[in-house]
Amino acid sequence: MAKLTVLGSINVDHLMQVAAAPKAGQTLTAKNYQVVAGGKGANQAVAAAKLGAEVAMIGCIGSDAIGTQMKAEFTQVGIDTSGITAVAGEATGLAMIYVEDSGENRIGIWPGANGALSEEVLVHHRDQVTATDLLLMQLETPIETLVTAAALAKQAGTTVVLNPAPAQALPKALLQNVDIITPNETEAEQLTGVTINNMDDADRAAKALHDQFGIELVLITLGKRGVWLSNQGQGKQISGFSVNAVDTTAAGDTFNGGFVTALLEGKSLSDAVRFGQAAAALSVTRLGAQSSIPTRAETLVMME
Ligand code: ATP
Repeated sequence: MAKLTVLGSINVDHLMQVAAAPKAGQTLTAKNYQVVAGGKGANQAVAAAKLGAEVAMIGCIGSDAIGTQMKAEFTQVGIDTSGITAVAGEATGLAMIYVEDSGENRIGIWPGANGALSEEVLVHHRDQVTATDLLLMQLETPIETLVTAAALAKQAGTTVVLNPAPAQALPKALLQNVDIITPNETEAEQLTGVTINNMDDADRAAKALHDQFGIELVLITLGKRGVWLSNQGQGKQISGFSVNAVDTTAAGDTFNGGFVTALLEGKSLSDAVRFGQAAAALSVTRLGAQSSIPTRAETLVMME
């Protein structure tokens, strides 16, 4: 079976459900509060594992009980956790998340141990980057480590997939070693300067990513409008699934985990996008990050 390595963040999410997020100076009482496992790296690793991939994770947790518990949960879903380092004196990363009745979310992050995922730590897990079929990364851990990991992977012939989230400017040294990039609309705008209001804009943003950085495959996720898939400049929209959205947290993460899982199984690009979209659509019908990720069986039923 083809192998996936996910390099990225591990967070504990403090989730409050509110009618609308508090405005400046306002205090409000939430309708519901939960502590759930999150972090873009961890969410994508768990999504891929639940959706059928063979997954190893490279990341850092703190020297605290919640980090140890999260690592044990990764093992339970079948993730190889030998690349997860417990950092002495650090707290496991955390996110404070408001989920509004509309399904929109507002998120503040404290990186904690994720900030310790340095190039020195990476060196110990070099094999997991070079002896894997696909490396999936996001932007919640130090960028210089991602640059090194992408270069190592590229040299070794590993496919490099970058989910450039959360939105930030990126060095060419990283982007030039990326084979597949999966920004949402905001992230695509950050990287290209193109504001995406329609499919023509998506096409222009995708072409900028092909032309400026030599990235072969661009997938711009468009929320409920689906995905703009551009393969070496040949673009098309692939519609998503129609569902009743409750909480969009981790929609992108579930999509990425599902997409790479199907790709590693040898599915066509369009089929891999559809599989990722089916899993992501199911995830938005449920509250939370990892808690909202569907199983492979549920996803296959959704696709029928
Ligand atoms: P998030 O940051 O909330 O995790 P994102 O902004 O990274 O998400 P989106 O583009 O919002 O990513 O969503 C990723 C994919 O999830 C979409 O391409 C789509 O397939 C699916 N999706 C998202 N929102 C909805 C929705 N309301 N209904 C159906 N599918 C959705």
